[in-house]
Amino acid sequence: MEVVQHDVLLIGGGAAGLRAAFAIVEADEGLDVAVLSKVYPMRSHTVAAEGGAAAVIDADDSFDDHAHDTISGGEWLCDQDAVERFVEEAPGELIRLERWGCPWSREEDGSIAVRPFGGMNRERTWFAADKTGFHLLHTLYQRALRHPSIVFHDEWFVTRLLVHDGRCRGVVALELQTGRVATFLAGAVVLCTGGGGQVYPYTTNGQIKTGDGMALAYRAGVPLKDMEFVQYHPTGLPFTGILITEAARGEGGWLVNREGYRYLQDYDLGEPGPEPVKRTMELGPRDRLSQAFVKEMERGRTVESPYGEVVHLDLRHLGEAVIDEKLPFVRELCRKYEKIDPVEELIPVRPVVHYMMGGIDTDLDGATSMPGLFAAGEVACVNINGANRLGSNSLVECLVFGARAGRAAAVAARERLPPADEAVFREGHAERERIHRGILGREGGEERMPALRAELREAMEKGAGIYREEDDMVRALEVVRTLRERLERVGPDDASLTFNTELQGFLELENMLDVGEAILVSALHRKESRGAHQRRDFPDRDDEEHLVHSIVRSGGDEEPSVELRPVTITRWPPEERVYGSGEGDGAAHGSGGEDGAADGSGREGG
Ligand SMILES: Cc1cc2nc3c(=O)[nH]c(=O)nc-3n(C[C@H](O)[C@H](O)[C@H](O)COP(=O)(O)OP(=O)(O)OC[C@H]3O[C@@H](n4cnc5c(N)ncnc54)[C@H](O)[C@@H]3O)c2cc1C
Repeated sequence: MEVVQHDVLLIGGGAAGLRAAFAIVEADEGLDVAVLSKVYPMRSHTVAAEGGAAAVIDADDSFDDHAHDTISGGEWLCDQDAVERFVEEAPGELIRLERWGCPWSREEDGSIAVRPFGGMNRERTWFAADKTGFHLLHTLYQRALRHPSIVFHDEWFVTRLLVHDGRCRGVVALELQTGRVATFLAGAVVLCTGGGGQVYPYTTNGQIKTGDGMALAYRAGVPLKDMEFVQYHPTGLPFTGILITEAARGEGGWLVNREGYRYLQDYDLGEPGPEPVKRTMELGPRDRLSQAFVKEMERGRTVESPYGEVVHLDLRHLGEAVIDEKLPFVRELCRKYEKIDPVEELIPVRPVVHYMMGGIDTDLDGATSMPGLFAAGEVACVNINGANRLGSNSLVECLVFGARAGRAAAVAARERLPPADEAVFREGHAERERIHRGILGREGGEERMPALRAELREAMEKGAGIYREEDDMVRALEVVRTLRERLERVGPDDASLTFNTELQGFLELENMLDVGEAILVSALHRKESRGAHQRRDFPDRDDEEHLVHSIVRSGGDEEPSVELRPVTITRWPPEERVYGSGEGDGAAHGSGGEDGAADGSGREGG
């Protein structure tokens, strides 16, 4: 069997993977670094990021303000030591990209332009029009291509981690073009495989976001953290799930119900006032806005569409010039996918799954519980996002923690290890047999893979959607378990080795089932409502019992186990989350009531 050796393997060529690659070669020029990616790196989901990247830049802003917004946005489930490192290192990362050629949008005087973003109390979101991810990834990729020590293995799909004596020694991967399976050995492996929104039916996430890295780690015995927290973005296009960026609201867009009423004023998110009213209404955090949509639907105030209930995003008052300058991509997406022009028409939107706050449990340097294995970016949970990520923190998280993981992986790669022995090669061989004979060679075809995938998605939306309840979650977990058995009875129609998309879909579905299980088991365990995890049967936040991370471990054929770990609090004790009170003045607001989103148990405002 083919064996390829590198010093460090980066799995994933998005923002986190490419940033980590530079950190490694800067730490030690002698190390050779390989990036394995199941798609050509420029097709990683990072390219789809629209709105921007958050970092303190204005004189009236501060690291403490950025940290407080992040922590309160995450409903106090963020580890505050991680948030402190994050906000301090964020500006340096964006300036570095500027030097490398990232075309950040600018003010008339040439200074960096920033825009308001949901849950951010100050304007600190840097942007490149509404194609931030495209420019950011291009900057990293074109520079990586020029670097002699960074090599790319494009369109290789990693299916297994190789572990020996408790240490990660490499991976097994399938070349999609030829179907050949090879063993890749390295001193350190960094998983940068992104999130898993495809586990749900309506998502902004690309087809490739199937939670592969989380599942690889989970199956190898590495725990996942805070998996119950799945973010719905309030403004996806119905049917396609394509994202209409929060920047549309940052630039002044309104959300209106079937009566044309800006309904968010009924949900403790402030009132319409002179623009810009910061932290209020449409610029509230995503969890609250998505929950408000469900409440509007229950009140019969949403609009029926061919693809379910929607509300409207109104940009008309911004005018054509602003839309074309600041939101050209929004206009393009609306024209292409909805056949409407937002300059003159309302955009139909609904909440769709966008981001996973949880992921592989790591420390501040991306280290997992397994020596030799690191993780960074959306696949990891450091944790800076807590129970709800603020928009524009994620790209920067990829840069800050990608760099940190890269530096730590460089150290691990220099350790002297005994040569990989027979057991490692046998594992690689067994994985090749599993793929070529066990899956491709399987007779039968009693079950259809796309049907199983659709059942999984439906179960996840019903069981672990915006609002959750014990019985629904238990039912969804049963569905996941029976789907695993039924997947064994799927025989492929296509047994060819060249770009076998059916085989890839099968491997991805295996991963999605593991991710689905981890989400549901963790969600059942958390008997409270916090951020993106809202339980109708436990509607209040409970800091006494649940100011803890959920750490879930696969049980193999047995039940998974969940442990709890205290949240790290450094300087910001838990408070109530207050929005809609203007410039952080902590003014009183209603206590929630029937329509208010469930509020926390702490008291202090602001
Ligand atoms: C539509 C959209 C808009 C967004 N807008 C913003 C925004 O404006 N600001 C912000 O901060 N965040 C935004 N986000 C979130 C942010 O873009 C992502 O969280 C971030 O880009 C993730 O980067 P990553 O490097 O972790 O992973 P990704 O960019 O998803 O890259 C994952 C990589 O892993 C590889 N991979 C995956 N599985 C395997 C496997 N089995 N084998 C080999 N390779 C594999 C893929 O090929 C890919 O190269 C947005 C997200 C979406 C979906």
